[in-house]
Amino acid sequence: TSDMEPEKEIIFRSRLPDIYIPKHLSLHSYCFENIADFSHRPCLIDGATGQVYTYTDVELTSRKVASSLHKLGINKGDVIMILLPNSPEFVYSFFGASYLGAVSTMANPYFTAAEIIKQAKASNTKIIITQSAHVPKVKEYASDHSIKLICIDSALDGCLHYSDLVSGDETKLPEVEISSDDVVALPYSSGTTGLPKGVMLTHKGLVTSVAQQVDGENPNLWIHSEDVMICVLPLFHIYSLNSILLCGLRAGAAILIMQKFDIVPFLQLIEKYKVTIGPFVPPIVLTITNNEEVVDKYDLSSMRTVMSGAAPLGKELEDTVRMKFPNAKLGQGYGMTEAGPVLAMCLAFAKEPFEIKSGACGTVVRNAEMKIVDPDSGVSLPKHQRGEICIRGDQIMKGYLNDPEATKATIDADGWLHTGDIGLIDDDDELFIVDRLKELIKYKGFQVAPAELEALLLTHSDISDAAVVSMVNDAAGEVPVAFVVKINGSSVTEDDIKQFVSKQVVFYKRINRVFFIDTIPKSPSGKILRKELRAKLAAGVPN
Ligand code: AMP
Repeated sequence: TSDMEPEKEIIFRSRLPDIYIPKHLSLHSYCFENIADFSHRPCLIDGATGQVYTYTDVELTSRKVASSLHKLGINKGDVIMILLPNSPEFVYSFFGASYLGAVSTMANPYFTAAEIIKQAKASNTKIIITQSAHVPKVKEYASDHSIKLICIDSALDGCLHYSDLVSGDETKLPEVEISSDDVVALPYSSGTTGLPKGVMLTHKGLVTSVAQQVDGENPNLWIHSEDVMICVLPLFHIYSLNSILLCGLRAGAAILIMQKFDIVPFLQLIEKYKVTIGPFVPPIVLTITNNEEVVDKYDLSSMRTVMSGAAPLGKELEDTVRMKFPNAKLGQGYGMTEAGPVLAMCLAFAKEPFEIKSGACGTVVRNAEMKIVDPDSGVSLPKHQRGEICIRGDQIMKGYLNDPEATKATIDADGWLHTGDIGLIDDDDELFIVDRLKELIKYKGFQVAPAELEALLLTHSDISDAAVVSMVNDAAGEVPVAFVVKINGSSVTEDDIKQFVSKQVVFYKRINRVFFIDTIPKSPSGKILRKELRAKLAAGVPN
């Protein structure tokens, strides 16, 4: 009977027509496909030194690095770790691996030794490319596991120097057959639950994602070949790697590299290089807001586009951007590492621009499908109803490395990736993110996985149980706070616990507050009831 027919799903698509996507190309062939059109234009500008590298330089150096990596034993499928701040070497290493059909796993260089080694082990990294400052953290592990260390800034004992890589012979590149389903990038993300996992992004996935952003007849083209994009967001995060580096290269723009965000050099660089595109995160916008006097000394009129992503951008911050960058259109993008990462983007930059709505993070990218589902029943919902955002398309991850179970929990049998974000779609197909279902905490856009901190807390001899949730924070957006059950008779203090954690994690995973509690609320199956803990925080900070 008709009652038995499955309900028709409600699927949302871009308001722009689909485009042709050359999915058969490898990522490097795709990114450098049109370089004949802009071969001598600046590709990378090193903000610190002023050095300019043309498209021809960057493509050639990447092939030289590929050849050297091959000589060092890197073959198709092998993993190299890029443990670097933003730098030209980051770019060459990434493409060098791509030419060989090898995989780059990117890690935050400010990670502690334990955090880096966990990722190196899990990804089976063969080579680590880093800076002298971070060599001590990995030296012992590397020598114990025959991992080669390459240092970009000085000739250290036991390390190769990067100059050995860039002097490689590009005519000796091996012939490798790269299939579109091969993995090229392996960022780590905790996704909707648990510990950080390797996110397998393929050539086809990244080609599709970049094309969705910058290709086609009537694209939401936010980058032209005359543009100068400032790359201050860390390339080890997929937002920067994909939406700045890969999109910038495909479009033929100049990418101005900054190692770290400092307000004055940042403003100086925008003025000096007449930067036109600023891909930011809300905390950068907040710093601009908090430093009006300094900001007003610089001419920022070259900026025509400001894009914010990785975390929610409040209305007040939106208003500041409009004031400080009078010639710029402001839009939001919405990404998630596992989704490749871009799910939705504002269409303010399309040929016939759409109106930009406050709080919206755009509409679903082209050549993809989005639905909003009821988290309990799984039924897809019409416009204006809140539910979990799901996405389907060639751009999403192939899965988590060596973790079919976590993959199955995130990508369902019909190919839908479940984001763990709660959102709704309005009459104009604009997506609004309104809540987060998953446990992930975002400190200034950086991922903090509660499960990782809970596991660490449980190694403390005075702690019998622990749960970590997010708390709202003006400067960071969110910070991790811990609810801790002490063992009987322990006199451990909040400070003791904070210090215990701080020593073992990168700065943004530090616990902001510790609340002692008698028991951690859990479901019958043992799952932490985070909602209850968050409700406690919302009711006022417990003492
Ligand atoms: P990551 O995998 O580190 O990129 O983190 C992805 C998560 O960041 C998403 O699932 C969202 O929870 C959050 N996020 C990304 N972009 C936005 C945005 N524009 N507004 C609100 N949250 C966002």
